[in-house]
This record gives sequence, structure tokens and C-alpha cells, in this order.
Amino acid sequence: MASFFQTHLQPHCEGAAWKDYQLTDPDRNIKEKLCAQHQKSLEIYCRTDDMCISAKCVATEHNGHKIVELETEREEKQKQLGTIVSDIYKRLEKSLLKMKYRKMRRTSLA
Ligand SMILES: [Zn+2]
Ligand SMILES: [Zn+2]
Repeated sequence: MASFFQTHLQPHCEGAAWKDYQLTDPDRNIKEKLCAQHQKSLEIYCRTDDMCISAKCVATEHNGHKIVELETEREEKQKQLGTIVSDIYKRLEKSLLKMKYRKMRRTSLA
């Protein structure tokens, strides 16, 4: 399960900022990270580039890109993750049931 989370969560944002953001208290950590170009907090998420950016970036190099608040993006990612996890559990449950069923059949045939 741990490796599943890692492979699915890591590619979503550039650099270590996103990793810290996911693993520890989001607000405290993300506000400490500043945009290298503007020295502004990375509080916005560019969906076009799949990375965290500052408010100033929006007006410059990310002009016209798909922009959401970082908080919004985080909530949606968590929702998505919730769906993925419950889907995995469902499938796991199904295969467990199948295994049980096969075992039952084998014992009843024997
Ligand atoms: Zn910036
Ligand atoms: Zn962008």
C-alpha cells in the first residue's frame, strides 16, 4: 500500500515542495516555500503545467493556464485518492470472496 501512495502522489508537483506538502501539515509547510523567481508563497496550482506556482507567476509565465487554488487542488486530489483506494478495496474484497468460494467448492467436492 505504501508504494502505491508513493507512485501515485509523487509525480504531481515539481520538486520536494509537494512531497512535504503531502506528508506533513500542509499550511505550515507550503507557506514556507517561496517561488524562486518572485519570492512569493506557492499558493496556486497550475493544472496546465502540473506544478505549484505563486500569484505573480499566474500573471506572467502561467498567463492563460488552468489555475486553481492549492487548497482546492489538494481537496480534489484527496477525493480522487479516496475513490482509488475504495476501488482497490472493492476489488480486493471481490478476489478474496472468489478465493473463499473456490476453497468452499474444493472442500465440498472432496
Ligand atoms: Zn512566482
Ligand atoms: Zn502554467
